[in-house]
Amino acid sequence: MATTTPAPTVPQAPHYPEQVTGMYILARALQKVGVDTMYGLVGIPVTEFAYLAQEQGINFVSFRFEQQAGMAAATHGYLTGKPGVLLTVSSLGFLNGLTATINATVNCYPMIQISGSSVREPIDLEQGTYEGLDQLNVAKGLVKAAYRVNKPEDIPTAVVRAYRAAVSGRPGGVYLDVTTPCMGAIMNRADAEALLETPVDPQPAMIPSPTSVDRALQLLASAKKPAILLGKGAAFAQVDDKIKKLVETTGIPYYPMSMAKGLLPDNHPLSALSCRSEIMEQSDVVMLIGARLNWLLSRGHGKWNPNGQFIQLDIDPQEIDCNRHIAAPVVGDISSSLDAILANLPDYKLQMDPTWVPYLQGVTKEKNAKFATRLTANADKMPMDHWTALGAIKPIIEGNPDVILVNEGANTLDDTRDAIDMSLPRHRIDCATWAIMGMGMGSSVGAAVATGKSVVAIEGDSAFGFSGMDFSTICRFKLPVTVVIFNNGGIYNGIGQNMATPGEPSYGKPAPTTLDINARYDKMGEAFGAKSYYVTTPAELSAALTEAIASKAPALIDVQLAADSGKESGHIGYLNPASLQDVIV
Ligand code: ADP
Ligand code: MG
Repeated sequence: MATTTPAPTVPQAPHYPEQVTGMYILARALQKVGVDTMYGLVGIPVTEFAYLAQEQGINFVSFRFEQQAGMAAATHGYLTGKPGVLLTVSSLGFLNGLTATINATVNCYPMIQISGSSVREPIDLEQGTYEGLDQLNVAKGLVKAAYRVNKPEDIPTAVVRAYRAAVSGRPGGVYLDVTTPCMGAIMNRADAEALLETPVDPQPAMIPSPTSVDRALQLLASAKKPAILLGKGAAFAQVDDKIKKLVETTGIPYYPMSMAKGLLPDNHPLSALSCRSEIMEQSDVVMLIGARLNWLLSRGHGKWNPNGQFIQLDIDPQEIDCNRHIAAPVVGDISSSLDAILANLPDYKLQMDPTWVPYLQGVTKEKNAKFATRLTANADKMPMDHWTALGAIKPIIEGNPDVILVNEGANTLDDTRDAIDMSLPRHRIDCATWAIMGMGMGSSVGAAVATGKSVVAIEGDSAFGFSGMDFSTICRFKLPVTVVIFNNGGIYNGIGQNMATPGEPSYGKPAPTTLDINARYDKMGEAFGAKSYYVTTPAELSAALTEAIASKAPALIDVQLAADSGKESGHIGYLNPASLQDVIV
């Protein structure tokens, strides 16, 4: 005979103040590990939790779309070195947010996605329940770590585990599943408080072996044409002085990957930003610091000098040799690895060819002069193209070096990256390793909230479409963010054409790449109360951007470009099947 008592259908209320709920413990546990901000979108079963977190003094930044809240959390993690936190509801909310958590994992950004999940039993028996989904199993394998917490007394441990997993070793996205019954479960306050912990040394130093340091220095010293390649891992590590010291004491030229731009000023005499091909083709020893030899670097093949050798400083031992043989791996955290390298450097005599740096400086001068004409040659073009607009924007962004630049699109991404020099570390955030679109508004919010600095987001019109609604979040939180939309009316451009012959299936239909060349995005800005501009000339753009940055308030600038400005796939047209020849990247 069955004797079990059915679970109460209505959660019991705790007797305050001596009792508390799981969600209260969750808020306290997050606070205890140092979380001060949470990004998310509430609903059943996490609404009350967000209120409780706010009451505990955690800044809750509420979004329209979970994916964007996740992009904000990831950017927060990248910029602060501590996990950004995303809060989502069950099923669809969880899935929307998971995209960002996976993206954070791919990019090595520390973040934690906390999601409410439905009651286990009907999910496990596949009986159907409100927003039922086996979320833990969906997340597993796609993120750095995934945990579920079922009992309120386990919440503090779960939070500490998630925190450590996100931030230690190679950082990444962590999923923490909190079931509805666990959120509502009741505990004695004193018992719960006694369980709270602050992790000791959550991001432990990982010291490289002395042998690996010696091997790397021997190779570096033997190089005739060495180069240092800086990645966003180096920027994330926040060891800017050590990197500067390495570059300046060795005199070795460096090439920054996109988000490492500004780690040293892009116009530094040893910057080889304009010499990507020369370094790939001619360097005999390249030292990778927090950069992966992945598709963005042709996986170390193709153009690369086949006889060149690599030194790689990375925290993840499994990264070594993953694409090309690494002659001198230095596995450790970048700070410790650079300490060891800098301490031992005086024992080695560098043999760099004295003509190498002057040669690269000559190439830089020549290429930069040529590049500058691209901006000036189009200065009066009407309607504007990408270069006309960038010619107006460049001096303003470079004149406000402390503004964080968020950038996504195809041509808008490539051309902005090439046109605008950065002079401070961690001031450029883009769609990064996965090359995704749809991080703009979220990353802008995360950057502004995490740093308190002003942000300018330069967005392709297609890219903006993925996250545009969260411009409202920028407005609601009155953030100093200016969104600049390059409207060329389409994906790549706005001149996509379908068959012109009546009767053809595609006749008269919008082409797959065509969007809205006549859209007035500035009206969208107005809808949320932001200062908004519609500009058609470089002079108007200049004036609008200058005013918008100075206002330190939400602003949106709709930049009208020509529909034929921009080419398919931007700089990576060779990845497009139509133009794919023998290139495998
Ligand atoms: P980029 O795209 O700029 O080349 P990647 O994301 O490809 O940068 O590479 C970053 C690398 O930095 C990853 O391999 C990651 O393991 C490494 N990394 C991240 N943080 C650290 C750190 N603190 N110390 C050492 N390596 C790190
Ligand atoms: Mg990379």
